[in-house]
Amino acid sequence: MATNGVNGNHGVAARLKDNRAKAIVDAAYAGKYAIPAVCCYNLEAVLATVRAAEAKRSPALIQLFPWSIEFADGLLLHAAAEAADKATVPVGVHMDHAQSPDIIKRSADLGGYDGIMVDMSHYERDENMRLSRELVEYCNARGIVTECEPGRINGTEDGIADTEGMEEILTTPEQAEEFVRLGIDWLAPAFGNVHGVYGPKGPQLDFPRLARIHEQVGDRVRLVLHGAHEDYFKEELLKKCISYGMAKVNINGPVAAAWTQVQGELTGKVPLTKVLEEQTKAMQAVVEYHMDWLMSTGKA
Ligand SMILES: [Zn+2]
Repeated sequence: MATNGVNGNHGVAARLKDNRAKAIVDAAYAGKYAIPAVCCYNLEAVLATVRAAEAKRSPALIQLFPWSIEFADGLLLHAAAEAADKATVPVGVHMDHAQSPDIIKRSADLGGYDGIMVDMSHYERDENMRLSRELVEYCNARGIVTECEPGRINGTEDGIADTEGMEEILTTPEQAEEFVRLGIDWLAPAFGNVHGVYGPKGPQLDFPRLARIHEQVGDRVRLVLHGAHEDYFKEELLKKCISYGMAKVNINGPVAAAWTQVQGELTGKVPLTKVLEEQTKAMQAVVEYHMDWLMSTGKA
């Protein structure tokens, strides 16, 4: 678990060296596979992620949105951190799309996050850079690694500011370089990927752009794939993305959909405890086949 209450930047490199989320994603990059970062909205999803990781002997990250902090303060975060601590395989806890300085500082100070996505992509460029620099330092000083998004990945995710209608901005190698120099550990490029539903033609991914970004950043940061809904991103396309350097892939919609489906099918027909157990199993199954697709199965 990341420690908090550490002042100043002295010894930051040493603190990040022990960061378990960084170790998980670094190992994936070195081993040419990717790990699933599973968006969790409740305790059942946390359990499903850890159980999938243990069943498949796969490393994994539990991801929480800022919503969890706004809704329940640090309760789900601390449960997730404890579940990660107790797991028999490497599991870390990461905050996805934290979009305000306040929520980032509050989350970092709560203790329990190994990583935080500092997403200032809805600000204009100069403000994005200024805020990102400040917040990356803030997180790093507390032993927390950071993920940033140069450019802008469009679409919507639960609890995340709607970027639909904002002009799409694809990441350039120059922007990627600027963010690497802020001291980030993970970079989420926008190369045609969007959150949620794609247009009628499906994903129009700019792989030459992704290759140039990967070449620019080299081994200094790990690349993260957002917008990889399984309706579009199955084994073949995920493997292609991994071959371009993606080492962390965010999984959201299909896990939540499994929860909702079981809720609809079983509510009122079986005891509530049974509903919760079956929801957990259904989510675990979704995480497990993603581990196979990402080739993280057996890597823990
Ligand atoms: Zn995302």
